[in-house]
Amino acid sequence: MIPVNTTILQTAGWQEQLRDMVRDGKELLQLLQLDPDAMPDISAALRQFPLRVPRHFVGKMRPGDWRDPLLLQVLPQKAENDLQPGFVDDPLGERHANPAPGLIHKYHGRVLMITTPACAVHCRYCFRRNFPYQDNNPSRAHWQQALDYISARPDIGEVILSGGDPLSASDDYLAELIARIAAIPHVHTLRLHSRLPVVLPARVTDSLLQVLTQHRMQTVLVIHSNHPNELDQDTATALQNLRRAGITLLNQSVLLKGINDDADTLATLSERLFQCHTLPYYLHLLDKVRGAGHFECSQQRAQQLRESLLVRLPGYLVPRLVREEAGASSKTPIAI
Ligand SMILES: *Cc1c(COP(=O)(O)O)cnc(C)c1O
Ligand code: SF4
Repeated sequence: MIPVNTTILQTAGWQEQLRDMVRDGKELLQLLQLDPDAMPDISAALRQFPLRVPRHFVGKMRPGDWRDPLLLQVLPQKAENDLQPGFVDDPLGERHANPAPGLIHKYHGRVLMITTPACAVHCRYCFRRNFPYQDNNPSRAHWQQALDYISARPDIGEVILSGGDPLSASDDYLAELIARIAAIPHVHTLRLHSRLPVVLPARVTDSLLQVLTQHRMQTVLVIHSNHPNELDQDTATALQNLRRAGITLLNQSVLLKGINDDADTLATLSERLFQCHTLPYYLHLLDKVRGAGHFECSQQRAQQLRESLLVRLPGYLVPRLVREEAGASSKTPIAI
């Protein structure tokens, strides 16, 4: 095997897969041998937040099952149009913590950069589903403002590349951005929040591993997986390669009604993550974003689940149960 050629093939592979995503509800259902005519009218939900899902992720769904936990995360529902009290457009108050285009600074010592507004998958519960991405599309021309802001604040030691999904950007784009961040001496940690190793594991190429590791900072990658079925062999291999490259791997999940709100699923998820060299980090209570009310799980139920995880699993496999509150100085832990 000639490694260089493998890399070229893999690189072509992920971009092709990104272009070739499923964007049509009917096609998604047909791929899963479900009857599109049985689906209620979801056109209003689609106008709000279009359907996007990579074929690799569709391949992890169970054909013929309307309640498949992966399908439910991406299939638009009529219920998204139900107005629910308390569910709003900007539940985290990010618009008020946006000091430069594409930069969010809410917590001490770390800032979040919206690297690209694009995501490889559209999760229906996403808290940014109504966020003005178009105003936060930090093209290269805009980076300077964000970088100047970080340079002027020596207490910012960690830069988090988020999105959208930062790994939906090209290697060249990421390499240039990372080099400019690394040029700020007080930044010691680079963190990425990405769902791509889960929904499109071909993204983890040799060339990406180089981009993520050939700089002087510590690198942390926080993936986003909600259900053990998402962690198939391809994703396990991608994570293993990231780990071998020296990247610290963590996972965040969102607690979702009907998808992962039972102790068996969550315990299996933690164990499977560990097999994939990844530690559970956060289990988020749903952000109250307009259109996601049907995913909500009560806080009482969340606390019961966390209690049973504490009893069943070693401490390092129990994620921190948190909610995000606008104006708070960190994620807010939920006590049992
Ligand atoms: C979640 C988040 C962070 C990171 O918080 P940690 O608790 O360090 O994981 C940073 N900035 C923003 C805006 C966030 O939402
Ligand atoms: S991958 Fe993350 S940012 Fe993208 S749609 Fe899903 S939850 Fe939202």
